[in-house]
Amino acid sequence: MEKEKIYEKALEKLGGADMIIKLIKRLCKLQEIKIHMKIPVICPRCFNKTLEIDVETGQGVCYSCQKESNIKELVAVYEKEELDQHRKFKNLSEHNKGVGGNY
Ligand SMILES: [Zn+2]
Repeated sequence: MEKEKIYEKALEKLGGADMIIKLIKRLCKLQEIKIHMKIPVICPRCFNKTLEIDVETGQGVCYSCQKESNIKELVAVYEKEELDQHRKFKNLSEHNKGVGGNY
């Protein structure tokens, strides 16, 4: 097996990127290194990928629109959105009577 594939398999087993971040955090704790890692995510206000979440604190500020947010809030917002999308689609498929049938 190729080296890369073995690595990918191992990653899968570990739970992917989530686990990597956990391991990085753990290593930093063991080595007493303070993490200053920020991950840019999409800002729910301006839709730019400029909301930087601090991996340690979960807090973030968007440097485009200055909105402050935290990771829990963001996940909640996007999980709700996903649910709404799902509902919309479900509604549409349940109440759609076909072309010309919606009046
Ligand atoms: Zn923003």
